[in-house]
Amino acid sequence: MTAKQPNILFIMADDHASKAIGCYGAGINQTPHLDRIANEGMRLNHCYVTNSICTPSRAAILTGTYNHVNCVSTLETHIDNRLPNVAKHLKTGGYQTAMVGKWHLGEGKAHEPTGFDFWSVLPGQGEYFDPYMIEMGEDIEAPGYVTDVITDKCLNWLDERDREKPFFLMCHHKAPHREWEHHPKHAALYQDDIAVPDTFDDDYCNRAKAASEAKMRIRNDMKYRDLGLVQPEGGSEVGVRVKDGDIERKIPHPEDPSDLRLIDRATGEVFTFETQAELAHFKYQRYLKRYLRTIASIDENVGRMLDYLDREGLTEDTIVIYTSDQGFFLGEHGWFDKRFMYEESFQMPFLVRYPKEIAAGTVCDDMACNVDFAPSFLDYAGLTVPSYMQGKSLRNLFGGNTPEDWSQLAYHRYWMHRDPDHNAYSHYGIRDQRYKLIYWYNEGFDLPGTNHGGEDREWELFDCQKDPLELFNVVEDQAYFDVVQNMMRQLDAKMAEIGDVPEHHSGAL
Ligand code: CA
Repeated sequence: MTAKQPNILFIMADDHASKAIGCYGAGINQTPHLDRIANEGMRLNHCYVTNSICTPSRAAILTGTYNHVNCVSTLETHIDNRLPNVAKHLKTGGYQTAMVGKWHLGEGKAHEPTGFDFWSVLPGQGEYFDPYMIEMGEDIEAPGYVTDVITDKCLNWLDERDREKPFFLMCHHKAPHREWEHHPKHAALYQDDIAVPDTFDDDYCNRAKAASEAKMRIRNDMKYRDLGLVQPEGGSEVGVRVKDGDIERKIPHPEDPSDLRLIDRATGEVFTFETQAELAHFKYQRYLKRYLRTIASIDENVGRMLDYLDREGLTEDTIVIYTSDQGFFLGEHGWFDKRFMYEESFQMPFLVRYPKEIAAGTVCDDMACNVDFAPSFLDYAGLTVPSYMQGKSLRNLFGGNTPEDWSQLAYHRYWMHRDPDHNAYSHYGIRDQRYKLIYWYNEGFDLPGTNHGGEDREWELFDCQKDPLELFNVVEDQAYFDVVQNMMRQLDAKMAEIGDVPEHHSGAL
């Protein structure tokens, strides 16, 4: 049986929106190596994250369970590494296993990676240049640019592996996570302006108040460090953020910005502005270009890994996956960041290649979720999917054979109510092929003192077909009465199925 087990190369970036991958068709950048995976395999259009932030998504991927089950519901609730996970099952089942790059599930003996023959991870968010890493429990410094460093470590491990066994390698890039520091060789990319999304000037009418309350706006909430600008000494304390002991300030957005001078940290170039619109445009372009430049490095390095597989004769026997721990707002609704169940942050990019079972150039429109990844790996490995896992193997979908009883439903829940940085509201909901139902219960569990009672609870329903930009909440529109009732029934059933506890009362409308 061992001879038939495929290798599994799982490459995951951090905060990589599908819109910033060429084959998804938005046209804002080019990613020939990532596109190669889709061209020689399959692209998923409806793969979703069950909780749109780093740490919970990673826990769901490793364990195949929802976050109320694995207890990793926020950035601060780290994984208990005594939990079973997919690497442990694969290792027991004959695989060599490795985890390289961003872990973000906690540090120290209780939280460090387990189930891996080799691991070398960035502490916390990690640094872009000369990162410190924790390698098999030891602190090391790894010189170089982080995306290159992670790839080098993966390739070294592949070179030194036991060739008698199949491998399971998780290559987790830090990029393109905030603060979007690119390799110097990519500084000149994107001289021309990037297209501005239709909803950049969203006024958040016709939506639950969470949208207008969120502090994720490019025009108001970007920090000097986010955009590689010199942060002045002193000044306003509005919007401060402490990182690594440093105070980080937001860039002002005054009504009359003519006195504002922004200075490039690397070159000393000075920027001035006549109008607020000009300043907002500057922030957007600067953000997008920095973000896309970090992705240029990822694309190159994925190319190096694909070349390695070719060179070593491993391409036919290796499942290659490229995904991200969630999506990201690239100016849609005026935002950066993630957290919300709105489509741009909810949708994960997902590309998969396995020539033995997946036809080249195929596209899957079925619903998938990150809890499905672990069962899929075990299915391909010919191993039992343990009963605790809540996801379903995607193998049939990848092969172009969607089972008739496949659930076309994705569930999302976000717990970090009104965290000081982003002020994003807690919520949960479901999306099917046509509609999205969201419940904003406007309470927090994990942050003390943030319980707002229940008087301001809100529902949202979006018709994703008629309103793909999610600008019109139609939950109170009589034309959608039956849809709302049906979606609420499906939400209740889904929560019962996965064992999550509702905050709403059925029939609350
Ligand atoms: Ca992330």
